[in-house]
Amino acid sequence: MTCPNCTNGMILPAMPHKDFYRIPCPICGGTGTFPDGYVYLPKLGEIIKDILITQKMTLREASRYYDVDATDMSMWKRGIFRNQFEGGE
Ligand SMILES: [Zn+2]
Repeated sequence: MTCPNCTNGMILPAMPHKDFYRIPCPICGGTGTFPDGYVYLPKLGEIIKDILITQKMTLREASRYYDVDATDMSMWKRGIFRNQFEGGE
């Protein structure tokens, strides 16, 4: 499956920056292929996005409030979740 987080393994930042206008995707490691260990659930991502909008919380506020890593939460908003049901930790 194609990685939903990037374009051909590269992320184009919203704000172009002289030092990194393209950065390798941290999810697929720049391969462009969605790796094992993650699941793509876009509808769940929409629900999480709606919750933040309804609660008028920024990503940072919500991650502090729910005690979740801000990087994880920004992935969730895009529908990307770590698959915790395989492999185990
Ligand atoms: Zn990717």
